[in-house]
Amino acid sequence: MHSPCLPPAMEPADLIWRDGVPESTRFGDVYFSRDNGLAETRYVFIGHNQLPERFQQVPDTGHFVIAETGFGTGLNFLAAWAEWLKQRPADDNAILHFVSVERFPLRRQDLEKALSYWPELSPLATELIEHYPPLIKGTHRLVLAGGRVRLTLYFGDVLAAWKDLTFFADTWFLDGFAPSLNPDMWLDDAIGLITSHSKPGTTLATFTAVGRVRRSLAEAGFEIAKVPGFGRKREMLAGIYAPGNTTNQEARTGTVAVIGAGIAGTLLARNLAERGVQVLLLDKAPHAGSAASGNPQGALYVKLGVEYNAQTELAATALSFSQRFYRPWQNRFWHPTGLLQLATDDQEADRQRRFCERNEYPDNLLEPVNAIRASELAGIPVDTGGLWFPGSGWLEPAKACQQLAEHPLIETRFSYQVVNLLPCNNQWCIRNHSGEDCRADAVIIAGGHESPALVPVAGQLRLKAIRGQVTELPEADFNLPQTVICGTKYLNPVQGGSAVTGATFDLKDETPYPTPAGHQENLDELKRILPSVTKESVPDPDQLQGRVAFRCTTHDYQPVAGHMRDTEGNHLNDLYLLTGLGSKGLVWAPLLAEYLADVISGQPHCLPAPLSKRLETGRLYRT
Ligand code: SAM
Repeated sequence: MHSPCLPPAMEPADLIWRDGVPESTRFGDVYFSRDNGLAETRYVFIGHNQLPERFQQVPDTGHFVIAETGFGTGLNFLAAWAEWLKQRPADDNAILHFVSVERFPLRRQDLEKALSYWPELSPLATELIEHYPPLIKGTHRLVLAGGRVRLTLYFGDVLAAWKDLTFFADTWFLDGFAPSLNPDMWLDDAIGLITSHSKPGTTLATFTAVGRVRRSLAEAGFEIAKVPGFGRKREMLAGIYAPGNTTNQEARTGTVAVIGAGIAGTLLARNLAERGVQVLLLDKAPHAGSAASGNPQGALYVKLGVEYNAQTELAATALSFSQRFYRPWQNRFWHPTGLLQLATDDQEADRQRRFCERNEYPDNLLEPVNAIRASELAGIPVDTGGLWFPGSGWLEPAKACQQLAEHPLIETRFSYQVVNLLPCNNQWCIRNHSGEDCRADAVIIAGGHESPALVPVAGQLRLKAIRGQVTELPEADFNLPQTVICGTKYLNPVQGGSAVTGATFDLKDETPYPTPAGHQENLDELKRILPSVTKESVPDPDQLQGRVAFRCTTHDYQPVAGHMRDTEGNHLNDLYLLTGLGSKGLVWAPLLAEYLADVISGQPHCLPAPLSKRLETGRLYRT
């Protein structure tokens, strides 16, 4: 009945439905009460954790964290979200974080069916379903209600989730099926880990009143009371951790300066501003998106590794997050046309064959296609099959940066060339080329390949600039595709009379303007991988338009996002680095901006520790 999946696919929930109520065949228990699941949720979890009152007490730039064992149909989540909207003013910046774990996620169609049971939650359910991630293992952050509600959904086992995730819960919903039917969820180990994510005043509620659970929670430090249960259930448990010392955290992030208004900097500035943080966005250019993010078109593309290791998980997490993230920007700078990664030579064909043998991805993330299907998707004949990414597409990066930088809490200072960062009175003093200073409580350097010059440390950082030249292909002279096509180079669909192809990868060339040789290289490679694109007469490379930019890459070609460290490994107070995104900035930047904003504002992290470790700045020093 349960066919095993290859990673990273998750084994989905196996359901039977009785009178509209989903039941797990694996556990033999219902997802919500037959009496009235929503009323039970409100009674057990919302009411017994005093959420209506506690939600009102959160400061208007603060946050509240609910953690849950067993996401299931998301009913508890939607009920908490609805309560948050009810208790909070419509225009505040406070954030409800909901951290939940699920070992057997519902398929999207099952989720839809289960949630259709609750018409009053319908608008929230629709938004959740639209953002519901592909069923791959790992941590999925969903930014909902315009950022006022953030769901961190860990697809995997509860023990791994609580070991790997970084957060402190204000309250717990313990909801993992009856302890007799699912003892794993209620093991002492799991309860011990719950304690490690709790703080004085953290409350919990659970529908069960089983003695073993009660004793275990009490031994872990919770003061537990048996209270009347919902409906026909006689009793349930409610508790508080280290009572008497309840604290409501005040958000104390002052002004944050972001240096660099490329895609990484503008996304981070916007992310922080939407959390209520005052941001100063600085760039030496006269406008946002002027350097590596200044191309008219860029593909939302990342190459996933054959082995599903931490590096691949990070890339897949970033890809699926970016696809969700850009959705509201459709028709402004985001064009979700889908993307084909073609197997344009034997080596890549072999790599893709091994990739498909060893991995299983849901087809809403990627799907192998043959040359016939690839041609239909592309709208032009292609000679080889490849991988189809239906949720990808292309962006107008320069436009994206400019639009993202427009927010009432973002103050921009352009033509401001930072030359020095100096600590002064618990702040950073940011000096420019004409000796002017501005101050901020925290600084993030997002200056691409120019970042090393800005970092006030003695050691040399292993970051390098790699020249990339793109070429604009006039629509009249080429047969252009309707989706993005990637091989050794990429080609975008037409936009405003031309389509961008590229880019060159010039390790030792510093020429800052496009050259005919660069255009020729792009044309030759395009002809090799996509012969049908080229018409009989090809324009002279001298006549073609293009652009040059410098990507910033690390020695290990993995991005950097984190607290800046010195050569000894010590943190530099309130100084962060976000760079090294290489040619995959459009994919990396949304997730890394979300992660850094979590770190800076002391909110639950959207990345588990084994993945965020890979982003650390300390590795940039030679050891
Ligand atoms: N809170 C859910 C809702 O609002 O619909 C109902 C949760 S349901 C009662 C329990 C959930 O726990 C199921 O979805 C089940 O797959 C999940 N689960 C069971 N064992 C687990 C484990 N070891 N790790 C993570 N999730 C688990």
